[in-house]
Amino acid sequence: MRFDRFHPTRRGLILTGSAGLLTAAAGPSFAAGSNALPGPSPVDTGKVEGGRVTFPNWRGEADRPSAPPPAPLPPAERVGFAVVGLGRLSLEEILPAFGECKRARPVALVSGSPEKARLVAAQHGIKPEAVYGYADFDRIAENREIQAVYIILPNGLHRDYVLRAAKARKHVLCEKPMATSTAEAREMTAACDAAGVRLMVAYRCQYEPYNREVIRLVRSGELGAVRFIEATNTQTMGTADQWRFRKALAGGGALPDIGLYCLNSARALLGEEPVEVFARITNPKDDPRYREVEESISFMLRFPSGAIANCASSYGAHESKDLRVRLEKGWIDLENAFAYEGQQMRLAHREGKTEAVESVRLSRENQFALEIDHMAACVAQGRTPHTPGSEGVQDHQVMEAIYRSAETGAPVSLPTVAARDATRGPEPDKG
Ligand code: NAD
Repeated sequence: MRFDRFHPTRRGLILTGSAGLLTAAAGPSFAAGSNALPGPSPVDTGKVEGGRVTFPNWRGEADRPSAPPPAPLPPAERVGFAVVGLGRLSLEEILPAFGECKRARPVALVSGSPEKARLVAAQHGIKPEAVYGYADFDRIAENREIQAVYIILPNGLHRDYVLRAAKARKHVLCEKPMATSTAEAREMTAACDAAGVRLMVAYRCQYEPYNREVIRLVRSGELGAVRFIEATNTQTMGTADQWRFRKALAGGGALPDIGLYCLNSARALLGEEPVEVFARITNPKDDPRYREVEESISFMLRFPSGAIANCASSYGAHESKDLRVRLEKGWIDLENAFAYEGQQMRLAHREGKTEAVESVRLSRENQFALEIDHMAACVAQGRTPHTPGSEGVQDHQVMEAIYRSAETGAPVSLPTVAARDATRGPEPDKG
């Protein structure tokens, strides 16, 4: 009972098996094996219904049913993406994630390294003629298979490529941080609006199931009002010879790169906008990497409801990417909240005379695939993304206030935004 009260949607998520009647496999030509062995039962073959394959629950009542098989669209019906930039995120996460997408497929690459691009195109079934260099990027306008571009370049290049993509009349998914300033972010939003193309910022955590469950639980009010959010995103960095240490390419240090997850999660959890921020930066002495950008930053956000978020981000502290919410009637901890994997969720609340501490386990899903599929659905159905350009503009405004506070040593006020979720589009669909 306790489980149901606190997790109605999770219960929905895991109770996905069908108890419907199954039809037998069609015709003898489909039969496998010898006559000596019994044929498959309908429980084993499943059935086709509503354009997808379903199986009945084969597990006992005590266990949660397995997730249904994915139902991807045929490749020709998926939204075609050009992946712009073939660095680590593209090769390690995004292109593999397309393999788990149901509504999107990669159809073109843009890279400054022809040899790498040719190899990657072959690995992912992308036509050699759909490989572009940065100089001939504008030719993507002529490729009708490309409906959207995914910009995965250093932050300082996002603006130019979003503007060029809009000019080519392609929808845009842009990596975070959206830009290197509020002014650039606004320009990008205006350019996409003027061209009539969708713009989404790749805030993957707003599509990741555990983060979404924390948001749902907080907003359900079951645990009362939020008093504190503690968000930490730290990691250590190697060589100075990378764009993340160049202000013109990165826009800043730990804050826009990883501290942004703390800021964006606090805003998304509450649906409110901070009215005051206070921040401190610390940099190691004599480390050439931190001549242009900050190493460590701690910032506080005060929200109109009275909730306070304490956030910490660093390029000089061992990896830790956790989110904790302290509410009137309980707490929620999400370990590895901002990591690619390994999320562990626990929540505590009073249960009669005892303190109940529960672990929550959700089915594994690739957050990058969920995010890309959401953009594809928005393109196909002409909808506003859940994290449109306005969501990125707002984060840049708050980050600029955070930097001002760190510079002056004083709190900085921000305008009150009365509407909830003012910068977000509708919730993403399930599945
Ligand atoms: P990366 O350094 O691994 O790749 C950057 C790519 O851009 C490289 O292929 C590089 O050759 C190319 N490039 C083109 N012009 C360049 C220039 N002038 N200087 C440097 N590189 C240039 O970076 P990455 O980690 O893949 O990050 C790319 C973007 O993705 C950034 O905006 C970053 O913030 C974002 N990112 C997001 C996540 C996430 O979880 N959503 C994770 C990592 C990175």
